[in-house]
Amino acid sequence: MEKKTIVFIIMDGLGDRPTYKLKDRTPMEAAYTPNMDYMARNGKAGMIYPVKQGLVCGSDTSHLSLLGYDPLKVYTGRGPFEAMGLGMDVMAGDIAFRANYSTRKGRIVLDRRAGRIEESTEPLSRAISIEVDGMKIDVSSGVEHRAALVMHGPGLSPEVSDTDPHENGKEIHKSEPKNENAISTTRILEKYLEKSRTILDEHPINRKRIADGKMPANELLLRGAGKAPDLEPFHKKYSMNGSYIIGIPMIKGLAKMIGMKEIPVKGMTGGHNTNYNGKLIAASENIGRTDFILMNIKAPDAAAHDRNPERKLEAMERIDAAMEKILGREDESLIVLTGDHSTSSMTGEHTGDPVPVVFYTAGIGKQSATGFNEKHCSRTGFTMESGDAMNYSLQLVDRLEKYGA
Ligand SMILES: [Zn+2]
Repeated sequence: MEKKTIVFIIMDGLGDRPTYKLKDRTPMEAAYTPNMDYMARNGKAGMIYPVKQGLVCGSDTSHLSLLGYDPLKVYTGRGPFEAMGLGMDVMAGDIAFRANYSTRKGRIVLDRRAGRIEESTEPLSRAISIEVDGMKIDVSSGVEHRAALVMHGPGLSPEVSDTDPHENGKEIHKSEPKNENAISTTRILEKYLEKSRTILDEHPINRKRIADGKMPANELLLRGAGKAPDLEPFHKKYSMNGSYIIGIPMIKGLAKMIGMKEIPVKGMTGGHNTNYNGKLIAASENIGRTDFILMNIKAPDAAAHDRNPERKLEAMERIDAAMEKILGREDESLIVLTGDHSTSSMTGEHTGDPVPVVFYTAGIGKQSATGFNEKHCSRTGFTMESGDAMNYSLQLVDRLEKYGA
């Protein structure tokens, strides 16, 4: 018999705390979720600690951990993941910086945010995505003055200082190597920045801004260099092929980085009005065609960041309604319902709280919770750290070798 397809359905920022706005219940407790409750009753339910008890994780570190890559060993900082969050291609060995469009006069930074620029800086970023000494350097814009820069390796070092003086009225710093290995990286970087200044000075957007009496975005300030982690490809690590159904660029970038294949779905926004049905239909259609599917649904986290427990509840109900598309496939699949971390919809911040989890497949037996929420899943007493979720899943589908005689 073919092995079952493992489907990780990661509801971003899933866990929460009770709020008076929902009569002292969490959004999951208050939401009407008959399909996920059914899976909790008929699967194995419990709680997952993201990475490690007591850590407050980001989506990057918590997804790495759920996939069995220990962030405490492989994570090299936010830079590469923020660049991926802007949809940039980042591969092992690349160096990523967080960047700001700013206003320069001579070597002095007049304004680190280029007059709080509101128009899109993407045309500037495209113009300064160039090659220097045979090395490709890409820039991509975020909101307002924010951007990211990626130097594509090999042979690069992240041990280079910021050019951002972190204060207005100060001189732009030279990029200095922190050790010998970084000398060539800073040399290329300084050469690049010189070229970029000329391009930015002459760009029509900046000419117009000056003519309009606005501050030009004529200097890209760099900070927080980070090397993209060298992660073992997913298919090598697990002898399984992996696919992803993900709307948000950062997690998409991560899945791409470990060699997973995209299952495209129309109308995936990474927001509240994403195509929930489309995502679950796509997952269902790919059961039996691929060994592993990673799905991320961002809506619960986004609602919690907006401190909107009612909207988080609604997101849970929409997800639940879409779950119907995948129910009834328990003979051919293992469905894992969980979150990457908890996000409090009262404070709008990530917390270190554990997250409910359900492993649902045929033959697992009813050993479980009465509902899919913090209260009922924690009552089962079954807990694990997120780094164990892959192995736990693998043994459920007979993909893990026996440990011992
Ligand atoms: Zn978040």
